[in-house]
Amino acid sequence: MNIATLDLLRCPYCGGRLELVSSLFHRRDGDEIQDGILGCSCCIFGIVEGIPIMHLNEASTTARAHVEAGRPDLARRTMFGLDDDRHAARFDEVVASDTATYRDVVEALGPNFEGGYFLYRFSDPTYVVANAVVRAVAGTVLSGGGRAIDICGGSGHLTRTLLEVSSPAPVLADLYFSKVWLARRFTAPGCEAVCCDGNGPFPFVRGAFRYAMCTDAFMYIWTKRLFVGEMARLVDGQPDAAMLIGHTHNERTWTPSHGQPLSQDGYRNLFETIEPRVFAESSLFADIVKGGPLDLSRHDSADAIDADQALTIIASRHPGVFAPHVLAPPSPTRGELRLNPLYSVVPDGVRITLRLSFPSDDYAQEYGACREYLPDEVVVDRASVDALRSGRLPSNLTELARRRVILDLPRRYY
Ligand SMILES: [Zn+2]
Repeated sequence: MNIATLDLLRCPYCGGRLELVSSLFHRRDGDEIQDGILGCSCCIFGIVEGIPIMHLNEASTTARAHVEAGRPDLARRTMFGLDDDRHAARFDEVVASDTATYRDVVEALGPNFEGGYFLYRFSDPTYVVANAVVRAVAGTVLSGGGRAIDICGGSGHLTRTLLEVSSPAPVLADLYFSKVWLARRFTAPGCEAVCCDGNGPFPFVRGAFRYAMCTDAFMYIWTKRLFVGEMARLVDGQPDAAMLIGHTHNERTWTPSHGQPLSQDGYRNLFETIEPRVFAESSLFADIVKGGPLDLSRHDSADAIDADQALTIIASRHPGVFAPHVLAPPSPTRGELRLNPLYSVVPDGVRITLRLSFPSDDYAQEYGACREYLPDEVVVDRASVDALRSGRLPSNLTELARRRVILDLPRRYY
């Protein structure tokens, strides 16, 4: 973590400032703190591999003791939940390799690690909608500068989008060390990551951010009222700030992995200081499938919202937010241009046939809506596909990039 991030951090329990305890073990490289101990007036917290761990569960307390004892290697093992020595040694080997990919690390963590369909994340419909909404809302409110936070942001797939618009770099907060670690190394390098509990007070100072969001996680938060109050505190006093809750489930319509969702009025009720607008996710999805604009000036009917599996909730006083937003054309490549892994590749002379095939029936059931933009079959010339390696998108493949057959993935993703 950068030393300047201490200006944002506050103890979640006493609200006090935190300082690096210089009398205890620490490793620092210029302005970056690698490992160490942070202290406030009430307790101490560990920093492991540049990630402050701002909760006091059993693993984080054990890891903190390892850091104090000068064993950051053991602290990392603890935070990854690797208690079997042989497994841990194998994991350390994978992580030490310069060529290891996100996929390698997920596989080395073992089947208990919830990796799920991460390979397909960048083209699944939930991501596609969230990415467009985040670009539109965060892009608008941060156009004149300001910082974003992605709360419960997991391994940073959308934090990566925030890196384009947040200045200074966005903060990613999540309960799980392994996820934010993956984000810092692969998905969103350059973000600041903090481990903390979304069911407690957030460990940040009031007004530290101009944009705060939580996507695809809010239905699993039990203390929803506290959470929204905390989000409002984080952007308090910032001119034209925005709060976004993306892809949260709907009490009125059953969904797989339902969580504990609320109705639209239940969600509105959480916002005490500002009236949010609630969108039916399928209407935003339809905007994207037809190529835009993403129309945030719409007022979905109460019935349409009740019938939708997932909702997007936006609260902002910025005049540019609730407006139609042009979908950004593919920007200069940020990572590596790759064929979408949902396609099988059949070479045929100078051409290649790409066929859409889902990894499982479960995937088809949950994410099958991607068929709205992913064609079943497409034939492309091999030379153009080979040219993707240069990092530049040939003009004849622009449409396939827009339809997510070609993806701009983080480097060394798989
Ligand atoms: Zn404290």
